[in-house]
Amino acid sequence: MADPAPTLAVVIPVFNEEAVLPELFTRLARLFDGNPDVIWRAVLVDDGSRDRSAAMLREQAGRDPRFEAVELSRNFGFQAALSAGLAHAADADAVVTMDADLQDPPELIPEMIAAWRNGAEVVRATRRTRSETGLRRVGFDAFHRIFGLLSDYPIEPNTGTFGLLGRNAVVAYNNLPERHRFFPGLRAWIGFPAADVMYDRQERAAGQPQQTFRRLVRYALDGLFSFSHLPLRLLTYCGLFVAFMGFAGGLFFTLWRLLGFENSQQGFTTTIVVVLFLGGVQLIGIGILGEYLGRVYDEVKRRPPYIVKPAPSGSRPAFRAAPRA
Ligand code: UDP
Ligand code: MG
Repeated sequence: MADPAPTLAVVIPVFNEEAVLPELFTRLARLFDGNPDVIWRAVLVDDGSRDRSAAMLREQAGRDPRFEAVELSRNFGFQAALSAGLAHAADADAVVTMDADLQDPPELIPEMIAAWRNGAEVVRATRRTRSETGLRRVGFDAFHRIFGLLSDYPIEPNTGTFGLLGRNAVVAYNNLPERHRFFPGLRAWIGFPAADVMYDRQERAAGQPQQTFRRLVRYALDGLFSFSHLPLRLLTYCGLFVAFMGFAGGLFFTLWRLLGFENSQQGFTTTIVVVLFLGGVQLIGIGILGEYLGRVYDEVKRRPPYIVKPAPSGSRPAFRAAPRA
């Protein structure tokens, strides 16, 4: 077997995770040591953390050359940080994407590598169980159900960010031109042979969830509106239906009068209900248009989805060094 060892980058967005980082480093190092047939690299993307995370990533990179720290200039959000990591890891033979909080056990990675070696370009880690409860759980379930109905490229149920992309898939992902990115949806969209490996979703090893509920709702909307025109089409159908009802009503009342029947004076409640209902439908319609328009506006601005901080001054070219006193 003369195959050279494959290079594999593990991309991990990190935001205020100082509580879990020591355990994350230990578990990754153990994984790397236990699988010497792979050339490992951990690409840890600090998404503008406000705690000691960035410093800890730098320290770890100094201690162990298999760890690399990429720092964003501020908090851009999970999807942007993930994109930054994938762009940074573009030269690897395969890239694993996972959360920092160890809800995704790194010990599953060798199984993903096996699936990739068997020809899968996209490997999804599929949860046998979910650890979320309450409102988050209901939200996740509802989102997956609605997304499945609306999208032409449904996300496999019970999959998330955790998974592996072969080099071709990484190149395809990195070349996507859009700024509003929703990783699980785009991973389904790019195609390629896919495989699943099963796992049990863990509790967060330490610390608090860093994704606010508001942000999760925003990703859900991004997912829906960027993968489906169905909301717009539903509006059209709704408009057609209401217009048809109006036409039919007009015809009915005209005939009613022509046939000599009297109009009664009642109908105040009906009028109010119809006016409010139509007003509501129109406002919802404008809102849906706005969702698309806002996304179009963001895309045409062509702002980068994230900004990477330049490397620390030590590694800058010499001619940029501060003048000596
Ligand atoms: N994260 C990030 N930027 C953010 C929020 C979160 O990079 O603005 C990272 C976070 O550090 C973690 C991952 O995204 O590695 C998932 O976050 P979290 O565990 O809070 O989300 P949940 O498990 O609730 O989806
Ligand atoms: Mg988590």
